[in-house]
Amino acid sequence: MHRIVESIVSLAQHLVGIATDPEQYRPARCPHCGYARVWRHGCYHRKADRSAGGALNPVPVLRFLCQACVATCSRLPACIAPRRWYDWGVQQAVLMLLLLGESLHGCARRAGVDRRTARRWRDWLHERDTQFAFVLRSRWPELGRVADFNAFWRNVIDELTLQQAMHWLDRERVVP
Ligand SMILES: [Zn+2]
Repeated sequence: MHRIVESIVSLAQHLVGIATDPEQYRPARCPHCGYARVWRHGCYHRKADRSAGGALNPVPVLRFLCQACVATCSRLPACIAPRRWYDWGVQQAVLMLLLLGESLHGCARRAGVDRRTARRWRDWLHERDTQFAFVLRSRWPELGRVADFNAFWRNVIDELTLQQAMHWLDRERVVP
């Protein structure tokens, strides 16, 4: 869906970008119908700053409206994970601990997230594994043909980081 603007990698950069150069967020075409003219359509706000105090919250996210099908879409900077409160870094840390054999309870405690959140992330990766792995291997054959789930995803996190892997999937129209 091309929901992610890859060049924006920090919240500070995002806030400056929205204020000084919002055009960089405009999608080339509507992700729903492909029409090439989309209008700016305000913004919504979300909690995205997970640092102590969350001084940068609420963080604006720009929305766009298609002139043809009238659907709206939003464009997220790379530093905000779609539909997730936590950023990819926290999610990656939790998944890596799980892939290394840590228990759900243990890794939730160590990463400072709720155990149900850790379980949701684990289940998400298992559910989407076949599709994700197929697309990632077609781009990075060096990730190998390892059949072992844990070994493959440890490779992905080591070689690419979860954030980069999810950006590639987003570009390939595989919605993370
Ligand atoms: Zn459209």
